[in-house]
Amino acid sequence: MSDTKVNLLGLDRKGLEAFFTNMGEKAFRASQVMKWIHQFGVNDFDEMNNIAKGLREQLKEVAELRAPELVLDQASSDGTHKWVLRLDSGNCIETVLIPEGERGTLCVSSQVGCALDCSFCATGKQGFNRNLTTAEIVGQLRAAYQYYGATHRDKRIITNVVMMGMGEPLLNFDNVVAAMNIMTDDDCYGLSKRRVTLSTAGVVPAMRRLAEESDVSLAVSLHAPNDELRNVLVPLNCKYPLKELMAACRHYVEVGNKRKITFEYVMLDGVNDKPEHARQMIQLLKGIPSKINLIPFNPFPQSQYRRSSDETIRHFRDILAAGGLTTVTRRTRGDDIDAACGQLVGKVMDRTKRNLPKAGDALQELGG
Ligand code: SAH
Repeated sequence: MSDTKVNLLGLDRKGLEAFFTNMGEKAFRASQVMKWIHQFGVNDFDEMNNIAKGLREQLKEVAELRAPELVLDQASSDGTHKWVLRLDSGNCIETVLIPEGERGTLCVSSQVGCALDCSFCATGKQGFNRNLTTAEIVGQLRAAYQYYGATHRDKRIITNVVMMGMGEPLLNFDNVVAAMNIMTDDDCYGLSKRRVTLSTAGVVPAMRRLAEESDVSLAVSLHAPNDELRNVLVPLNCKYPLKELMAACRHYVEVGNKRKITFEYVMLDGVNDKPEHARQMIQLLKGIPSKINLIPFNPFPQSQYRRSSDETIRHFRDILAAGGLTTVTRRTRGDDIDAACGQLVGKVMDRTKRNLPKAGDALQELGG
């Protein structure tokens, strides 16, 4: 293993084709190798028996297949699975599989920790360490398949992916988009683009870029229907207030006729769960094809909020529904193993970096 070797696990079709062309090989090698890596899950170039021995030897010189290592597996009484994966740096990330009937949804992390520090989220309290590489993002999907000893063909264990684990995916734009390309590529995992969802706290310039570069489904963590409250719950709102966020949502829907946007709304007792909030939301989302996902707050040590009562959530939902908004309440899953929304913490080394990657700095790289 050497740092100079290219990790082929992290290259999407475009990247892998360029890799082979640079080697003086035909671009179709990309398809062959992608199938070996992602569909058959091989870790050794020698297993790729439709690749000539000479080329395999060459590959061993310049490339490697390196995946994050599974260090802990926990099963919830409700069937939810949480895996802890160790990265090269000693950091750990968490991935969660939520089976539901015919469907299996994998909740994938995009960063070690998170820089956004939303006041109700455990990941934010951990601070931020670094972006995940494409290989580390895709490695979560691959690890879940391998855990069951399955390739993508023999078992449809994972039908959906949500980029709703640790981190803000749009602050790790290039790696996340490449990983989603691999997830949806027919020679890799072949997931439907509609079944891969990226969730953002509202990084407006990156949402605009995503609309141009990808057609995955979009979820937006709204959590408050006015700037005053949202500034407190989602500090990123101070940089990108609701007016800009809603304009970016409209743009996402318009470009290429995108489907509905999912708006996530965590239900915090006495904070954002009053009837007036529901009414403001109806105004705010007017004209945006949307569905609302109400998430009962999941507590974690030191959290300062309480979950809204079932009755309050029902009432809130009824007001939204009467205002014409499609609304579902997300069932809490996996909370007995700290795998529920907002409870993922992994192991973040060197948390002192928390204040370094201010959202604004990361955005400069995006041209934002
Ligand atoms: N940074 C992205 C991806 C994380 S998604 C985003 O903000 O969308 C994780 C989802 O769980 C988000 O909607 C987040 O707001 C929500 N969440 C975070 N903490 C939570 C908690 N304690 N209880 C319930 N939902 C929470």
